[in-house]
Amino acid sequence: MTNSTKATGLAAHPRSDVAKLSTGAFAALVFVIATTGALAADCPRPDSLGTARVMALDAQTTPRVGLKSFPQTLPLQDKEVVLTFDDGPNPTTTRRVLAALAHECVRATFFVIGQSAAAQPDLVKAMAAAGHTIGHHSWSHPNLARMSETAANDNIARGVAADTAALGGAAKREVDAEAGGAPATSFFRFPYFASTPALLRDLESLGMVVFGADLWASDWNTMTPDQEFGLITKRLQTARRGVILFHDSKARTAAMLPHFLRFLRDNDYRIVHVVPRSGENDGG
Ligand SMILES: [Zn+2]
Repeated sequence: MTNSTKATGLAAHPRSDVAKLSTGAFAALVFVIATTGALAADCPRPDSLGTARVMALDAQTTPRVGLKSFPQTLPLQDKEVVLTFDDGPNPTTTRRVLAALAHECVRATFFVIGQSAAAQPDLVKAMAAAGHTIGHHSWSHPNLARMSETAANDNIARGVAADTAALGGAAKREVDAEAGGAPATSFFRFPYFASTPALLRDLESLGMVVFGADLWASDWNTMTPDQEFGLITKRLQTARRGVILFHDSKARTAAMLPHFLRFLRDNDYRIVHVVPRSGENDGG
């Protein structure tokens, strides 16, 4: 591929040129475009799944959501889903996840680990540049419920600071942490969903929305991408809606995701993108 091909993007290509590309070259082109953001800029696009609507959240109205951990969840309609990805950014799998989402014009939420964000700031910036929401998942992914409240809060705060630094102002939606002391994003998910009443109170006082999940793919277990696809589609057909937990750090999830997004499109599911509600720039 030449630089001019990369710069003009797939949309500008005559169909015959695209048809001449080998499958491998075509996949590489899509990957380059998707990960550089050009494809996302073409959204919405006919025949892609798309993002149906945006839901702005704050801790005052929805301090915590997700039926796996809490009695309440998001007010989703039938066949509406929120896609969330934990434990990134991962140098080998996160870009594949981002490419799959860009290809379908889908926006998701990434709960990143602070020390990984510090190690891979470009990936965090790529998430934000593609319009995804970035939530926090602690600094080092410990079981916070087994630490002292002080140590747990320190780990959470260090993660928020690292995520904020990695973002580097790339996401316009983010609150300026240095100016106001507010977190870069106001979404948090406990590692292992291991919360305590005290930590939940602390996070609520910080204005953090705590995310559990309504269903998941169990992608931490060893299975093939096909098995994961079968599991999550079966669970979704039972639940019919919800906040879905994946891990962008898992190769099986990265491999399965394009197939799953096609399934959502073909079965009339709709994507809801959750964003933090902020005073001056409501993402909704
Ligand atoms: Zn995790």
